[in-house]
Amino acid sequence: MIPRAATDGPVWLEEFRQAFRRPGDLPSRLLAWTRDREGLQAAHETFPLLVPRRYLTLADIADPEDPILRMVLPSRQELIRAAGESGDPLGEEEHTPVPRLVHRYPDRALLLVTDLCAVHCRFCTRKRLVARGREAALTDSGLDRILGYLRDHPEIREVVLSGGDPLVLPTGRLQKILTSVRKVPSVRVLRVGTRVPAVLPSRVDAELVEALRAVRPLYVVVHFDHPRELDSEAECALRRMGDAGLPLANQTVLLAGVNDDPDVLAELFGRLQELAVRPYYLHQLDFAAGTSHFRVPLKCAVGLVRELRRRLGGLAVPTLVVDLPGGAGKVPVGQDHIVREVEGGFLVEDLSGRPVYYPSP
Ligand SMILES: *Cc1c(COP(=O)(O)O)cnc(C)c1O
Ligand code: SF4
Repeated sequence: MIPRAATDGPVWLEEFRQAFRRPGDLPSRLLAWTRDREGLQAAHETFPLLVPRRYLTLADIADPEDPILRMVLPSRQELIRAAGESGDPLGEEEHTPVPRLVHRYPDRALLLVTDLCAVHCRFCTRKRLVARGREAALTDSGLDRILGYLRDHPEIREVVLSGGDPLVLPTGRLQKILTSVRKVPSVRVLRVGTRVPAVLPSRVDAELVEALRAVRPLYVVVHFDHPRELDSEAECALRRMGDAGLPLANQTVLLAGVNDDPDVLAELFGRLQELAVRPYYLHQLDFAAGTSHFRVPLKCAVGLVRELRRRLGGLAVPTLVVDLPGGAGKVPVGQDHIVREVEGGFLVEDLSGRPVYYPSP
């Protein structure tokens, strides 16, 4: 049975309602951690604070560089707009043929089903949409237009639900979207991208799991950025989905001062692998406005992934990707070990960087 609060619907919804949404709501020891209340307030006014109470229990406020707090507490550095940064770094608006559908690759489309999230990650690429406070979710007429577009474009075989976070929608609403997309014959595979299992794992209740199961094949791509996010509650949420036969993968955003460390990433990806969650992508941070303090130089990112390949098996190492500015798309980087073509073959670097001859007739 799904536990219910007395009158207010599911437990997760109550937890979501009680999330911190204003700096003034935060306990004073957390405000003290930031050491810059005006900066926090100013950044909150551009992209509001939102963090479930439970997520903050993962933090260590004795650590002035705590990675968990760094991801969720607004900071003055967000007000800096560094060179190359923009509100729409991936040129998604240009690839939006109907509202809330991004069609950038021939065979896949992204549906931005809601602008709401269970948390506001300070490094978010879609700050321009998340928490904009207009019509916050896909409407019935919007869904009809999207279904029409999908029918007119049978080359789209995979539909990715994103946002915002699709799993903050009421289950019935999500179910309606999923089942209507599933009925388009050319759509073969569904995917849901979500940070909910990391930040509001109570949301992954039996009712939700059943709704996802009913429209398989559906991949759930979760988003964990730090091993501390994998506490027992998050692990249970992942198990509930895995046990129901939903294939799980994970995306991580590479973040300076949070996870730009081979020990942290090796622990994160190793533990995800143990939980049967395949590390899929490690994202180089997009050029969203106000995120420069989280950016890791690409050269370091490549070095980190090579180090991971020495430490972990292939099933635990994600692909490092950069999403090229302006909508040119995601491409893997740092994978190529070919040094150069030589007589009768190639020189290929081994994992320690030593060139080895590989014959190729
Ligand atoms: C990332 C993305 C996808 C999915 O790409 P995969 O490489 O299959 O994970 C699809 N559409 C858009 C617009 C995207 O940004
Ligand atoms: S959950 Fe995803 S969409 Fe929402 S704020 Fe975080 S990164 Fe952005």
